[in-house]
Amino acid sequence: MRVSRKAKQMSPIEVYKLLPKTNCGKCGFPTCMAFAFKLVQGAVEVDKCPYLSDEAKSLLTGMTAPPVALVVIGRGDKAVRVGGEKVSFRHEDKFYNQPVIALELNDLMDMEEVKNCLKKAEEAAFERMEQTLKVNALALRNLSGRAEPFVRLVELVKDTPYPLIVSTENPSTAMKALNILKDERPLLHGAVLRNLMPMASLARRFKCPISVKAADWRTLLAAVNRLRGIGLHDIVIHPPGETLKEVIESLTIIRRLAVDKKFDRLGYPTITFPEDLKSNVPEPLRTAAVMTRYSSIIVVKPETLRFLRPVMMLRQSIMMDPRAPISVKPGLYYVGKPTPESPVLMTTNYALTYYILTEDLKNMGIDCYLIVVDTGGLSVACSIAGDKLKPESVKRVMEETGIAEKVKHRTLIIPGRAARLSGDIEDATGWRVLVGPLRSREIAEFIEKQFRRE
Ligand code: SF4
Repeated sequence: MRVSRKAKQMSPIEVYKLLPKTNCGKCGFPTCMAFAFKLVQGAVEVDKCPYLSDEAKSLLTGMTAPPVALVVIGRGDKAVRVGGEKVSFRHEDKFYNQPVIALELNDLMDMEEVKNCLKKAEEAAFERMEQTLKVNALALRNLSGRAEPFVRLVELVKDTPYPLIVSTENPSTAMKALNILKDERPLLHGAVLRNLMPMASLARRFKCPISVKAADWRTLLAAVNRLRGIGLHDIVIHPPGETLKEVIESLTIIRRLAVDKKFDRLGYPTITFPEDLKSNVPEPLRTAAVMTRYSSIIVVKPETLRFLRPVMMLRQSIMMDPRAPISVKPGLYYVGKPTPESPVLMTTNYALTYYILTEDLKNMGIDCYLIVVDTGGLSVACSIAGDKLKPESVKRVMEETGIAEKVKHRTLIIPGRAARLSGDIEDATGWRVLVGPLRSREIAEFIEKQFRRE
């Protein structure tokens, strides 16, 4: 059922009136009223209540739909989600779906070149803070203007683990590509006013999202209207502009109108090709610039792959939920190759503390065990101030991880900032506690002087 994203915001009482009022708890909340509050906050999906009438579902979905529509590209494991955003500034809530970085491949490349680019895309992936940062999609461009080479390119990449963007302004070439991809749900890119209806009918037939491009706002809005008029709502906007500055302005206008003014004709995710724009700004910085200005899909050329690392780190930072401190899983971590004689250190599960400490330990060549205690992602100092680091939690992690069976000694080194808990931790765990230094870079000297001397 398609619902209007213009539905007005309701109060919890108004939402409650639409609910079954049986307080059955199937939605995960004890009462319908509690569910109503969560719905208004956008913290829960309408579908969680299985007993809603179609009419109530439609009204409530309209109320909770994000002002920037969510569009899914690809299917199954390959699928990526773009849009679905509710705010223009991260601190107002959070950003929900990370900008997709799509690697551009074109049909003028030979087979070896394409394979080489795919290999480089794979090599560009890396782990950071328990996430894999990587290229997320392939954008296939029909630069030859002919169907055969484009079809060959599609054939070559169709079984890669990436969702695809099929970019051609020729509907007949697009149809040949879509015929190969069938149910893969690629993004059909290349619709402009002159080919709009043939491209739209392809999007409808193959049930895939469509992106629309226009040189000016009036044409763009007219094109979006026509797509919506024939029932297409999985739309991606290619914003107007020939220079980087113009496109950044367009991206900003689109997001602000969609979010602040609820102007739903622009409430769609966006796609940009920053390296095609006129600008003196170096390519990697262009990618970063459009990313910080809301581009949902950013198509990059293969030459940019080697500069992508900092851009992907920037993306990870932008996507962090400002309300939830970044954290690592509590538990036992091995640094280097610890033995039964190795020291046992303890810290909190604030990600930055964990990564700085483990990097320092590795760089100093210290093999040890690291007990990470759940403090809700707070640093040592904050968790002590907020009473989140408790001796019982330290004891629990130590018991659950079986650290006592891994070492011959019973000495635990706690962070310097946790000094005031040393006695309580000793009482709770039965281990002797050494208060470590305030700075992790001093830990090697500390271990040598205080731990190994015994
Ligand atoms: S599942 Fe529906 S009826 Fe049951 S408590 Fe939740 S909102 Fe109420």
